[in-house]
Amino acid sequence: MIKPEQKSALKNELGGFMFENEALAPKTALKTGGPAAVFLQPRTLTELELALKNLTRLGLEFMILGGGSNLLIADGGIQDRVVISLDQGFQDYKIIGSDNDSVMIQAGSAVRLAALVQLSLTGGYSGWENLAGIPGTLGGALAMNAGAYGVTIYDYLSRVSLWRGTELLCLARAELNPVYRNGGLKDNDIVIKAWFHLPRTDAGKVAEKIAEINHKRRQRLPAGRNAGSVFKNPAGDYAARLLDKAGCKGLTCGGAQVAAQHANVIVAEKGAHSQDIKELMVKMQERVRQRFGVVLEPEIRIY
Ligand SMILES: Cc1cc2nc3c(=O)[nH]c(=O)nc-3n(C[C@H](O)[C@H](O)[C@H](O)COP(=O)(O)OP(=O)(O)OC[C@H]3O[C@@H](n4cnc5c(N)ncnc54)[C@H](O)[C@@H]3O)c2cc1C
Repeated sequence: MIKPEQKSALKNELGGFMFENEALAPKTALKTGGPAAVFLQPRTLTELELALKNLTRLGLEFMILGGGSNLLIADGGIQDRVVISLDQGFQDYKIIGSDNDSVMIQAGSAVRLAALVQLSLTGGYSGWENLAGIPGTLGGALAMNAGAYGVTIYDYLSRVSLWRGTELLCLARAELNPVYRNGGLKDNDIVIKAWFHLPRTDAGKVAEKIAEINHKRRQRLPAGRNAGSVFKNPAGDYAARLLDKAGCKGLTCGGAQVAAQHANVIVAEKGAHSQDIKELMVKMQERVRQRFGVVLEPEIRIY
């Protein structure tokens, strides 16, 4: 619980970009959950640094909110730590180098993955086609090691700058250890920027591939509020297959329902609570455990 005196100390220092009781549900894909007791929206690296200094001074923990597409926020909101959202000031992306064969792209952590895919489509750079349709920001994608159809955001990464503790580090791809759906960042690492090296190709080919991926995704994913796959695939299998065989499609809990066309996706109705989703996840896990002896691990991050 953040104490009133901690809030007012923060307000004194960070008033220009601090908000209290900020609703988080509208900022997430599932549209559930309560507010952030303290919400910081630093507009520059200097403001972020100032915020972090003050949080350390006051002994306060924080979490980073990206595009909210992979988060389940508790119905009581986030009261025990400060929520930081990087927004303006972290949304720059551009080509910073190019030759006949390739380009180097620099992008801020708050850039939408969709904007980067669009850049590759417009310019005819290959590599990101399979990431088309993945919502969220670059920072979130790197934290989650987002990927689809055999490609991940790390595949074309050259280096990343991140805030760790009290310093800004620049790490080469080889210094990072992403694993399936986890970028392997340390707790409290904040992705600031990243650089990617993409080969040039024919823009028509990129467009064709993206159209194919978009088509596949439309067929697989339900409409309605959802956070994509709820559970990670267990080694050598697919969570959706196990959940389907365990009879989870259509299962409900309050306003949450397992999608009819994808057993690893939960759709939240308007008015659903995060608790409904949590309870439904437990039911799904339990069915798969009983039927196959496999314990599914959540992919969505629960706060
Ligand atoms: C319809 C739908 C389809 C999806 N399909 C896919 C898919 O095909 N493949 C896939 O991998 N995922 C998929 N997802 C999940 C989600 O889109 C990805 O995990 C995405 O990369 C999360 O990015 P975000 O910005 O929304 O992160 P958030 O959901 O906001 O946060 C996720 C995690 O990243 C951390 N984080 C965010 N920004 C930063 C930062 N700057 N520095 C450090 N940590 C940070 C957060 O603290 C949190 O722990 C899907 C989601 C939806 C809603």
